[in-house]
Amino acid sequence: MENSKICVIGAGIGGLSTAIRLAAAGHTVDVYEANDYPGGKLTEIQLDNFRFDAGPSLFTMPSYLEDLFLLAKKNIRNYFEYEKLDIICHYFWEDGTRLKAWADPKDFAAEAEKMLGVPAAEITDTLAASAKKYHLTGTTFLEKSLHKAGTWLSPEVARSVTQIPMLTGAVFQSMHRDNERRLSHPKLVQLFDRFATYNGSNPYKAPGMLNIIPHFEHNIGAFFPKGGMHQITQALYQLAQDLGVNFYFNQPVEKIRVTGKRAIGIQIDRKNIDYDKVVSNMDVFPTYKKLLTDQSQPHRTLSQPRSTSALIFYWGIKKEFKELGLHNILFSKNYQKEFAALEAGRIDDDPTIYINISKKRVKADAPEGCENWFTMINVPANSGQDWHELITRAREQMIAKIDRTLQVNLKELIVCESVLDPLSIESKTGSYQGALYGTNSNNIFAAFLRHPNFSSKIKDLYFCGGSVHPGGGIPLCLLSGKIVSELIQSS
Ligand SMILES: Cc1cc2nc3c(=O)[nH]c(=O)nc-3n(C[C@H](O)[C@H](O)[C@H](O)COP(=O)(O)OP(=O)(O)OC[C@H]3O[C@@H](n4cnc5c(N)ncnc54)[C@H](O)[C@@H]3O)c2cc1C
Repeated sequence: MENSKICVIGAGIGGLSTAIRLAAAGHTVDVYEANDYPGGKLTEIQLDNFRFDAGPSLFTMPSYLEDLFLLAKKNIRNYFEYEKLDIICHYFWEDGTRLKAWADPKDFAAEAEKMLGVPAAEITDTLAASAKKYHLTGTTFLEKSLHKAGTWLSPEVARSVTQIPMLTGAVFQSMHRDNERRLSHPKLVQLFDRFATYNGSNPYKAPGMLNIIPHFEHNIGAFFPKGGMHQITQALYQLAQDLGVNFYFNQPVEKIRVTGKRAIGIQIDRKNIDYDKVVSNMDVFPTYKKLLTDQSQPHRTLSQPRSTSALIFYWGIKKEFKELGLHNILFSKNYQKEFAALEAGRIDDDPTIYINISKKRVKADAPEGCENWFTMINVPANSGQDWHELITRAREQMIAKIDRTLQVNLKELIVCESVLDPLSIESKTGSYQGALYGTNSNNIFAAFLRHPNFSSKIKDLYFCGGSVHPGGGIPLCLLSGKIVSELIQSS
């Protein structure tokens, strides 16, 4: 196709990925961002002498990022470096059980055998089953539009579809049931169930197909960018600029202009700007409710239940903990009860706690003898709860649980604090109800009910980012940019 003038609304990871791909293909690309910084959820904050990655902390599938630099014919090493983790996560239970999830599946299996007394083959078989699910269906469901006939007619996809009967257990059973079939120890079931939270879902409802997620983390690996997660944003922003993408910050788009069922540009500050194509990286819900108010709304798609949100305390801690690593999980005693509370819009009184300490890899992130704790629990998306009350109570319960598990008096160690909750996630990034990953995947049709990467009603209008296909999380947001740019190239 001939070169077009394209506008991207939002400089989140999906927006940056789309802009880079379109600029590399020779299009003129302008990105409008409401904030005064790029990256959306993938940003950082500074508190006194402590630096924190504010949002994502786990980096998987770096090949999707590498692809952008290959496409742009740039050497990624000039922008970005990363290393593979040897221990992916440190797991803790209140009964004193501790388990290190080693990157090497054999070491991980040996650790599970030693600490939990389960045969090592349970772990290696579970990871092999996860790899199989990915190889049978991953490319179809993650890297292509599910809403274009062409996808379903390709030989590769036809092969995937014929394999689906082999996966019926995974399709029609919950993740939890699928894990229970393979793993004999309830703590290992809980550990593998946790992967549902990687897209804000509930393992007791989400289909077993989501057990594809451990494949990314354990078979391919978990990684850490030199300098912290925020370097992903910095690298993509620099690459986009080097390709000639124009960025306009503090520029909230007010309207997508549509004439004769075709997107023709945007409106900012009551000024009209013309474009050949418009891509929204804004959450799809406010895209329709705020920028397309005079257009017909896809009610069914927009009413799909949201993923969970998060409550995060960024704590400067005046102590170093040898038993903690970069990623740490302090599990709840009753996982099912914890998810039942989330479903009911509440926070359980014993929530699973995730502690990320980038200081373990980036010495400059906290002063000598101190650590920067990104301390997070899953919470429901905002539906009008009394957040002040919920946050105050959750803070006390989290501190008490950390004290019990690590035998400390945490309150005495906290030297500074900042909080992120569903309300501030929504106000800072535009995510409807503060959901981290758009809609949840708690039913087998979720992948098909997520909004496609294009509008079927309005020509030249496209969507990328975590609220649309293929879903949330850095890797999938990067892929949404790939799908959008391929759709535009073939239009
Ligand atoms: C606390 C937290 C932890 C997470 N942990 C992980 C993790 O460990 N690993 C992982 O892979 N993922 C994680 N995620 C999810 C991941 O961060 C997101 O899926 C991803 O960053 C979303 O990218 P996006 O492209 O959807 O854009 P977003 O980050 O949602 O950004 C959208 C952008 O659009 C802008 N915008 C909105 N409205 C307008 C407008 N009208 N005009 C102009 N601009 C507008 C916003 O300001 C924002 O910058 C986490 C998220 C959070 C919040």
